[in-house]
Amino acid sequence: MRLLRDLDRVPALCRSVPRRLLVAQALLLAAPMLAVALTALGVPHVLLLAAIPVLVLGLAGASLAVLRHFDEQQDLARASQDLARSMREQAQTDTVTGLANRVGLEAAMEPFATDLPLGEKVALLWLDLRRFKEVNDGLGHQIGDKVLQEVASRLREAAPEDAVLARFASDEFVLAARLPSLLAAQEMAGRIAERVSQPVRINGHRIGNGVSIGVAMMPDDAIAIPRLMQAADLALYHAKRGRANEVRFFHDSMTRALARRKEIEADLRTAIQRDELSIFFQPIIDLASGRIRGFEALVRWFHPDKGELLPAEFIPIAEESGLIITLGNWITGKAAQAAATWPDDITLAVNLSAAQIKAPGAALGILAALREARLNPARLELELTESLFIDDDENTAAFMTDLATEGVGFSLDDFGTGYSSLRYIHLHPFRTIKVDRSFVSGANTGRRSDAIIRAVAELGSTLDMHIVAEGLETIEQVQAVKAAGCTLGQGYYFSRAVPDYMAALLLTQEREEHAQTIVAHPRRKAG
Ligand code: C2E
Ligand code: MG
Ligand code: MG
Repeated sequence: MRLLRDLDRVPALCRSVPRRLLVAQALLLAAPMLAVALTALGVPHVLLLAAIPVLVLGLAGASLAVLRHFDEQQDLARASQDLARSMREQAQTDTVTGLANRVGLEAAMEPFATDLPLGEKVALLWLDLRRFKEVNDGLGHQIGDKVLQEVASRLREAAPEDAVLARFASDEFVLAARLPSLLAAQEMAGRIAERVSQPVRINGHRIGNGVSIGVAMMPDDAIAIPRLMQAADLALYHAKRGRANEVRFFHDSMTRALARRKEIEADLRTAIQRDELSIFFQPIIDLASGRIRGFEALVRWFHPDKGELLPAEFIPIAEESGLIITLGNWITGKAAQAAATWPDDITLAVNLSAAQIKAPGAALGILAALREARLNPARLELELTESLFIDDDENTAAFMTDLATEGVGFSLDDFGTGYSSLRYIHLHPFRTIKVDRSFVSGANTGRRSDAIIRAVAELGSTLDMHIVAEGLETIEQVQAVKAAGCTLGQGYYFSRAVPDYMAALLLTQEREEHAQTIVAHPRRKAG
């Protein structure tokens, strides 16, 4: 009975064949014996006959055991295959969005690259959410995850059915699709930028999703997947430097730009030791008195082969490579040494990058530089841009409070180019707002920019802050910003940035002229 029960437990597939086999086997053995026993019924034959069922059962049992073992082995193999498959799938899937992760992307890209039919292209879009970190830090990871899930589902909707979709590096997505032409890729990228950038509503929050997209095409830009990825990544790098929702297609010049960036980064590492860098100073003028109120330190690099390099080119490279910490400390130290030689009422403005503030002990480093140069902290004004607060509000706030208690002042630089949020002015101890030069001397100046300067100046006077107009190039501009209520001005109209000895000379000249004015007109009040 047990044997028959066991037989029933053997899976259906295996069961039908062995059962017939067993019966056949038993019959084949038993039939001749039975025939012999029946024809000549002697004692031995009867014994033989009696042994037949035992033999049959024994044989069936042995065969069944073999089958069971075989069956178990098959089950085991199937289970381990399933496990391996699910582990592979897990290892290739992003748990938050269900899309492929980096490993999954690499695996899925293979079929795309190997048999690309003639005339077909692969478009690889690399997307980066511009303000995701802000959302994640500000509203929490759960909301962050929901944003990612929403973006993933929008991509699924907007992408062709057989497209490969992946997410990695927190807020980066990759989409690869087979398309007939570059035009089709451009249309798709535009559609996706538009779709992804629509604000998301989660738990009552309306979350804006700026996106940057870099695109590379196969076979146009690359014929192998790693190259295609590199090209899209480079295009993304350029897109990120542009406006929100910018789509950039890879171009050869990007490779050249990358090579130059690499060269500059390598050269920058030794530029300080080789004495190629210097600090220039641009005067900041009190618009009421026309006198120098202070200087802004601006770094200059005179490269032996490449000529003069602009900070706009090498500062971002220093920031990306982390070199800005060393460079920034050197700039603050050098500038403070020069400022210590100026009269006590002349201030020094120094630009700071985000990475400098985030570095451990940043505030202490600045105070140490001031102490070493014997410069009163109250004479230092650090210029920060808004992007700094967007990335990291908390650390920046702590850094500012630490230094403000020592008397260091802060200016909000390039106001009007970022989010122009009044929140930063409200929350942080700013002494000065610097209105970006695009409002003063840019191509789009006019009634509107004038009204903006006026509004900012009014805000400044209410909050007892200085408003600096940057980029003053003509007397008309000086008069306009003064009439609008700006208290300080800076620009080529007064002076370009000059070396330290020239700055000292400007101060001496000005003081002498001022003294002469007082001697000549003793009753006229000097400003
Ligand atoms: P910024 O802080 O807004 O500095 C003002 C920039 O405007 C300077 O360019 C200055 O030379 C330029 N400028 C001043 N007056 C005029 C004018 O009348 N017309 C025009 N067209 N331009 C004017 P620069 O020195 O090339 O610096 C560019 C940017 O690089 C600076 O903008 C600042 O963000 C950054 N930078 C410069 N030096 C440093 C530094 O030592 N550290 C850091 N972190 N950034 C720096
Ligand atoms: Mg500045
Ligand atoms: Mg500025």
